Amino acid sequence: MKIVVIPGDGIGPETVAVAVDVLKAASQRFDLGLVFEHDIAGHDSLKQHGATVTPALLEKVKAADGLLLGPMATYDFKDEAKGEINPSKFFRKELDLHANIRPARTYPGMKPRLGEFDLVVVRENTEGFYADRNIESGNSEMQITADVVVSLRRITRFCCERIARSAFELAMTRKKHVTIVHKANVLKRGDGMFIDVCHEVGKEFPEVVVDDVIVDAMMAHVVRAPQRYDVIVTTNMFGDILSDLTAEMSGSLGLGGSLNAGREYAMGQAAHGSAPDIAGQDLANPISQVLSAAMLLNWHGQRKGDRKFIEAAAVIERAIADSIAAQECTRDVGGKLGTRESGVAMVKRVAA
Ligand code: ATP
Ligand code: MG
Repeated sequence: MKIVVIPGDGIGPETVAVAVDVLKAASQRFDLGLVFEHDIAGHDSLKQHGATVTPALLEKVKAADGLLLGPMATYDFKDEAKGEINPSKFFRKELDLHANIRPARTYPGMKPRLGEFDLVVVRENTEGFYADRNIESGNSEMQITADVVVSLRRITRFCCERIARSAFELAMTRKKHVTIVHKANVLKRGDGMFIDVCHEVGKEFPEVVVDDVIVDAMMAHVVRAPQRYDVIVTTNMFGDILSDLTAEMSGSLGLGGSLNAGREYAMGQAAHGSAPDIAGQDLANPISQVLSAAMLLNWHGQRKGDRKFIEAAAVIERAIADSIAAQECTRDVGGKLGTRESGVAMVKRVAA
């Protein structure tokens, strides 16, 4: 399996380095034959190549089996014509990574404020309210007059169907429960279709229990009783917001693993940003990036029907849980270790 590795900004170089070490240990133990191709994107690439991403990099990623991408600081990217493209967005769009899978769970050894839970947000990743990915020609926010802006939200049956299928397939490997989160009382047509299509796809999975919840009520329900949920499927913006909430509910943003998955390509990238406030100080929790890497292995194993990748992913996830239980982890999750030492603790367990 060939993986392109891009360190990204802020804490990225530190956390991605740990993820690569853990993958190397898994490769050795399970004979995965992982090959890493290191490259750059974002600010590094802008300096070196005059653009944050290059056509050559896209070709390289397409020729590989997966991408491990660090967080990208994008606040100062304003002009795409000047090569200032958000690499995360670029890969989601160019590789058609339609499903953003964001697990959130508590771990033994931490004291969860809201009780123990284990859920996954499955977020549609290619359309919806995001101005930068809706319409091929570019921007779907329109300045009508100096004082009026209209933002379009595109929902298609095609994208509803494939995200629903991703959610139900995932539910079959878990507790067989899918919750559809929507705002169909207001967005009657778009979210109306989203719900209908989710239920239609659900008929192909008769073992899975399905319910639906309005997004604002969901904020209360998920905080009150997160243990009620298993797989939550929702449109792009709702999923973006809800998954930050659930990641923080699990104890730390530093636990927020995330996979951007399509039919042919996938990208493991932590759910959080570049955390410049703690960058370069050996403080960042690498678990989010390590978990994202494990999800990439699992995706590859499922796609190729190769069990050793799926087993390796499970062993990495167990190494994360065991390291937290032994308090061999960073401060944000109750340990005393730095980023590097926390990585060593996971590598030891994966290699065992
Ligand atoms: P960006 O603009 O790239 O999104 P940000 O300043 O919004 O950066 P985030 O990465 O979104 O920062 O994270 C918000 C806060 O959560 C950070 O300031 C940091 O304190 C904390 N945080 C995020 N990721 C981690 C991590 N892996 N380990 C520990 N703390 C983290
Ligand atoms: Mg942020």
